[in-house]
Amino acid sequence: MTDISIKQQQEIVEEAREFSNQEIRPFSATFEANEAIPRELIEKMAKKGFLSASLPRSYGGLQLDPIHYGRFTEEIGKASSSTRALLTVHTSLVGETILRWGTEEQKNKWLPLMASGEKIGAFGLTEPEVGTDAKSVQTSYKKEGNKYIINGKKKWITLGDIADFFLVITKGDKGNSAFIVERSMGGVKTTPIKGLLGSRAAHVALIEFDNVEVPAENLLAKEGSGFTYIVNTALDHGRYSIAWGGIALAQEALESMISYSRKRTQFGKKIHSFQLIQGMIGDAVTKVHAGRALCLRAGELRKNADPSALMETTIAKYFTSKIAIQIATDAVQVHGGNGCCNQYPVELLFREAKILEIIEGTSQVQQEIISSYGLRQYYNPTYPIFP
Ligand SMILES: Cc1cc2nc3c(=O)[nH]c(=O)nc-3n(C[C@H](O)[C@H](O)[C@H](O)COP(=O)(O)OP(=O)(O)OC[C@H]3O[C@@H](n4cnc5c(N)ncnc54)[C@H](O)[C@@H]3O)c2cc1C
Repeated sequence: MTDISIKQQQEIVEEAREFSNQEIRPFSATFEANEAIPRELIEKMAKKGFLSASLPRSYGGLQLDPIHYGRFTEEIGKASSSTRALLTVHTSLVGETILRWGTEEQKNKWLPLMASGEKIGAFGLTEPEVGTDAKSVQTSYKKEGNKYIINGKKKWITLGDIADFFLVITKGDKGNSAFIVERSMGGVKTTPIKGLLGSRAAHVALIEFDNVEVPAENLLAKEGSGFTYIVNTALDHGRYSIAWGGIALAQEALESMISYSRKRTQFGKKIHSFQLIQGMIGDAVTKVHAGRALCLRAGELRKNADPSALMETTIAKYFTSKIAIQIATDAVQVHGGNGCCNQYPVELLFREAKILEIIEGTSQVQQEIISSYGLRQYYNPTYPIFP
């Protein structure tokens, strides 16, 4: 693998910022109103290598290290959360998982197609009746000769309505297994889900699999490893991406809050001069700095393949999704009535921020994971207990 210098990576992040400002930000409200990221935008992003920014150059990617990939994600996410969702799912959840667990044939086939945008991938774990308790998925697989038969439903699948293939988590004789299911295989039906709080342009859909015949070569890793290998890897990559998505929203809300408070006059003064407004601004600045520090730390650990990266990524995702909604709420507050209207960007930031506390594991699940880590890590058996 040829190395890519830090300077080159910084240039890609800057290019993403410029691209975002020119090609995404001016149109993001229209994407949400039309409930679609336009195909032309996806094609433009593919041409720049943005659909596989974290993947090796040998597969058509840009080979950004985790820190630069995070900063790249932030640049896109600041302009449009739905477009950031494209990266979270297509690149992080699907691409990075195939890179980790795919056979040479699977990697050589799928990763270049994903980089060029010829094939868009989605990740199907959640079902109508199964969310947090993900190991209980009901979508089934059954081996028949040299192929597998898949039946079931997946709900809330980002990109589901436009994806060419789905990384689907199923249950069968040998436990949870993951398959690459192609839309063209027959028996795959997708129905867009409208009326979402946020991620409206992210092509979220319900997917139905009716006796879909999947060749054995589309099994990812081995039967029974769908959870331990595939879901855990995918969600770890997804959480890292969402952590930066949270910083993107928090930063954007902070900038809106400050800009508005410096322009709006009440009682003959700019509203930023009121101490209660300053309190919200002070908190928001502190939270954004703390959240970014957590993301950078998780990125550094991931770069060094440090085993603690997994927990630090969970902590970063939990924290930044929490502060994103807190800061977006305050940003709406600072805007008063204007904050409740979609003429101002904070209305959309507020709706998008809430989504982050639900996807890639809800905040409650993150709290549980972090708490059981804390109970192990910070227990002092010699701590005195007095009668
Ligand atoms: C916009 C959007 C995009 C999405 N994209 C995808 C995607 O691409 N692929 C995909 O597979 N899924 C996707 N999802 C689904 C998402 O991952 C799930 O919504 C999420 O995992 C929660 O599952 P649920 O909605 O079934 O809620 P439930 O699991 O029913 O949870 C409901 C509430 O109960 C709480 N709860 C549940 N169990 C516990 C527990 N043990 N302890 C404490 N509290 C608990 C939860 O925290 C939550 O507050 C998406 C969802 C949305 C909204």
